Amino acid sequence: MKETIFAAALLAWYKKNARDLPWRNTQNPYYIWLSEVMLQQTRVVQGLPYFLRFVEAYPTVTDMAAAAERDILRLWQGLGYYSRARNMHATAQYIAYELGGNFPNNYKQLIGLKGVGSYTAAAIASFAFGEKVAVLDGNVYRVLARYWGIDTDIASPKAGKEFGALAAQCLPDTQTDLYNQAIMEFGALQCTPAAPQCIFCPLNDTCIAFATGQQSVLPIKIKKTKVKNRFLHYVVLEQNGELLLRERRGKGIWQGLYEFLCVESENEFWEVEDILQNPTVKPYLENTDSVQIIDVQDFKHALTHQILQVRFVRVRVSGDTILPQDDFAFYTPAQVADLPKPILIANYLEKIQP
Ligand code: SF4
Repeated sequence: MKETIFAAALLAWYKKNARDLPWRNTQNPYYIWLSEVMLQQTRVVQGLPYFLRFVEAYPTVTDMAAAAERDILRLWQGLGYYSRARNMHATAQYIAYELGGNFPNNYKQLIGLKGVGSYTAAAIASFAFGEKVAVLDGNVYRVLARYWGIDTDIASPKAGKEFGALAAQCLPDTQTDLYNQAIMEFGALQCTPAAPQCIFCPLNDTCIAFATGQQSVLPIKIKKTKVKNRFLHYVVLEQNGELLLRERRGKGIWQGLYEFLCVESENEFWEVEDILQNPTVKPYLENTDSVQIIDVQDFKHALTHQILQVRFVRVRVSGDTILPQDDFAFYTPAQVADLPKPILIANYLEKIQP
């Protein structure tokens, strides 16, 4: 099952690549909670010295509860978002004085604490108490959206439910705490927002964003009222009068429709040379005898929250093309006419018909 492959690859990657961070070497819920509160909207490198200072000044939740709020805020100085520090102090007092110093030990109770949202509750429940619950932060959204090819807007109300269900489905039966650490670390170091290391990624044979060139587009996060431009580059590969297409996978609006080789960019069209050199496209051209560019056409296609700017590059190849092992195949014009296709591809085909 693809979920099993995904989880196993992340665990193996994590064992080799995890950073050694102090809150990972403990199951103490107080330390884990502290680290999670500090790392909200803060990079690890910035949060780490604060974590060490707090643990030294307040080794237990009871020590923190007994501190004056101004001392907490002073030690917090420079981290920003001071309401986090105030909530943290109030929660420490609640745990110390109302719960006898015992941290709540499950997701349901943790989420009732002041300043603790669903991500932090899941992280503490998983890392400190081994509860089988999936964490869902920005890194996890990104990895899931890219790997599974999900183009649901992650800022939309339905995204939490959809991604939460998928995240839960991907949880392995054992080592769920390590798996949760692994997927977040993978998003932070490997599948990064601007420069994912796809060529060296252990998931690249099964990752939909990599296969379809959508790494720079996914995850989709649409700011309200702002229409997003997407730039799609289709390579229309033609050999002996047949065209290369495949069925689109993933859960997007075009799931199940047939399309050409495609790579996306976020800000502008790419030049033809760059499109043909893209790592998603290049393997299809490497084993051919000749590559001839027939024409290039640009179109615009408006959807509700997106404007698709589409560049079709028609390329004729000769020789016996050896296709990389995947689901692309050559289709005769009659077969192409029968395949279901996105409207913009159907319009393009109509236009280029002799
Ligand atoms: S292949 Fe690239 S986009 Fe896909 S999971 Fe790996 S790093 Fe992320």
